[in-house]
Amino acid sequence: MPEHYPNLFMPLDLGFTRLENRVIMGSMHTGLEDVRGGFRKLSEFYVERARGGVGLIVTGGISPDFCGQLVPFSSQLSYPWQVYKHRKLTTAVHAAGSRICMQLLHAGRYAIHPFAVAPSAIKAPISPFKPRAMSAGKIQHTIDAYVKAALLARKAGYDGVEIMGSEGYLINQFICTHTNQREDEWGGSFENRIRFAIEIVDRTRKAVGDDWIIMYRLSMLDLLKDGSNWEEVVQLAQAIERAGATLINTGIGWHEVRIPTIAAMVPRAAFTWVTAKLKQSVSIPLITSNRINTPEQAEQVLASGEADMVSMARPFLADPQFVNKAKHNQASRINTCIACNQGCLDRVFRKQRATCMVNPRACYETELEYTKTKIPKKIIVIGLGAAGMAFASIAAQRGHTVTAYDIAGIGGQLNLAVKIPGKQEFHETLRYFRHALEDNGVILKLGQGLTAREIRSTECDAVIVATGVIPRMPDIHGINHSKVVSYIDVISGKVVPGERVAIIGAGGIGFDVATLLVDKEAAHEKEHWLQSWGVDTQYIHRGGLLPQPREYSAQRKVYLLQRKPSKMGATLGKTTGWIHRTRLKNAGVEMLNGVKYQRIDDRGLHIEHNGDPRVLEVDHIILCAGQNPNRALADELEGSGMLVHVIGGADKAVELDAERAIRQGTELATKI
Ligand code: NAP
Repeated sequence: MPEHYPNLFMPLDLGFTRLENRVIMGSMHTGLEDVRGGFRKLSEFYVERARGGVGLIVTGGISPDFCGQLVPFSSQLSYPWQVYKHRKLTTAVHAAGSRICMQLLHAGRYAIHPFAVAPSAIKAPISPFKPRAMSAGKIQHTIDAYVKAALLARKAGYDGVEIMGSEGYLINQFICTHTNQREDEWGGSFENRIRFAIEIVDRTRKAVGDDWIIMYRLSMLDLLKDGSNWEEVVQLAQAIERAGATLINTGIGWHEVRIPTIAAMVPRAAFTWVTAKLKQSVSIPLITSNRINTPEQAEQVLASGEADMVSMARPFLADPQFVNKAKHNQASRINTCIACNQGCLDRVFRKQRATCMVNPRACYETELEYTKTKIPKKIIVIGLGAAGMAFASIAAQRGHTVTAYDIAGIGGQLNLAVKIPGKQEFHETLRYFRHALEDNGVILKLGQGLTAREIRSTECDAVIVATGVIPRMPDIHGINHSKVVSYIDVISGKVVPGERVAIIGAGGIGFDVATLLVDKEAAHEKEHWLQSWGVDTQYIHRGGLLPQPREYSAQRKVYLLQRKPSKMGATLGKTTGWIHRTRLKNAGVEMLNGVKYQRIDDRGLHIEHNGDPRVLEVDHIILCAGQNPNRALADELEGSGMLVHVIGGADKAVELDAERAIRQGTELATKI
């Protein structure tokens, strides 16, 4: 057993089988499950993680029947002919040395199709379809479907199933009065409401035998006003254990709840206390989850006895070798999940294939290959922001000789991102790339640039221009007034804005700057953070929800402005935009859309809003009005007839973000 992380690498004996370590790769829908030919790619995706040493993998949710599909044509296991492709996947994972369980997920009223069913006909806020209330017969058929799917999963070679009972899906919908208003034996009392969950586990156990894993994902903290109380959570967990579950996994929050549970601003391991609270009430192993992304954090959770295993999903998108690197004392080389959701959840919710911002190869294992080059080239990279770092490290890994210049250091705009409250995880990305550049032998010329003339006179086979962006200067009368400052000066700390501030531009950076201005240090402390979002850390109230979130008043008056009449923050991430908006609203930021800028003078910023003139009497006006590509070098080189590759913000500043930059840099590095 490795000396570092002794708890993480302690095998777990389940009686009939043994797991090699305490790490589970948690369930995550990739989008490959549902497309033609997707299982071959999915298999390769899991195999890479299995080779990376994870003890147990849980697949994305597979529905036990037609009504339970999340979206039309999403994957389902109900018929013997469907077993074949699953068997190929399990065989490949076993050959790679890991175990794999299939998650059984019935969407219930979260289904995005007209055949949705639920305990009661109550529409979910996150689906346009009102579900049909299940008849008693339909309930029995659905339980049979779970059992049949589990038997087919066993036939397909899975090591077990995870029965998804949390996050507000069908089983969870039976448990809470929020969604179950039945008056028959499946509704009313708590005993009746948990009957569906218990029957599924009990009948599955009887059907599959004793020597197969049944993991139950239990909603330990619904975060709903009429969710379960703590006594009910304990009662359910004990009943699930009696019904024959092997392991209980932790579920936090329903999907419709507006409290962040996994996004970047959630403190690491913010919810492990909930799992820990259940420890003394059940005797089967408990798995904890949510925002655990480093081996240190996982080890700490296990060492403190909060849980028996740790489940991580997104960290395995970011780095398939997470476990092996931890085992071989290479944790500093782990490409850490920064919980941005941009490559994974945001894409899945747009019905696209998942990938990962910091690892564009995730779910593209068969397409984006980092094979050794047969024709090594001498390559010059100018600019080591996200795009330049990604290109340089992969190109060098492939065997090219890469010399990379940056007049500052590495990281570009990521060095600003780390200063934004809730974005500190970008430090990990900087750390990862620093090592990746060095380990792959990139010749770093930091603090140095090259002119077009110098580049032309350098002997090389390819030039990559990754010079980033230049902030846009809006055309407003008085823009050169001393009150006007750039977001770079504010984020870098060069300028400390006064107590009244107007922000011009409400894109990603406008929101970031507003967050920085209203942030309170104390809000990062775990307990305070949870309470500021209304989480009852004493678990006195139903659903683990405080009657009122803890007050979170800001020390500044901030105006966030945009000219478009559309919703503020519409361009932010699909799964995180609401968090940014809520946080600023709670801190009293005044968000004004449909604004016309008139002028800037000693009084402040003169605008027209809803047809009325208004003066925002502010101390500072911060420009966050978007970016233009920094193409000067590229234009000069191209002008002299040189062929250059332009990547990242220098190529396209419109949708400049780190995800696109890293992907573009990586893709070019695999082709060059
Ligand atoms: P952006 O998202 O394009 O936003 C620019 C803002 O400036 C818009 O609100 C725009 O609104 C306003 N604007 C544009 N031209 C203007 C002009 N001439 N005068 C006044 N206002 C003008 O750009 P950004 O905020 O610089 O962000 C750059 C990129 O990085 C974006 O893709 C962003 O999503 C990404 N980023 C992402 C995050 C994140 O959390 N994921 C954080 C930071 C940055 P109006 O035109 O309506 O006024």
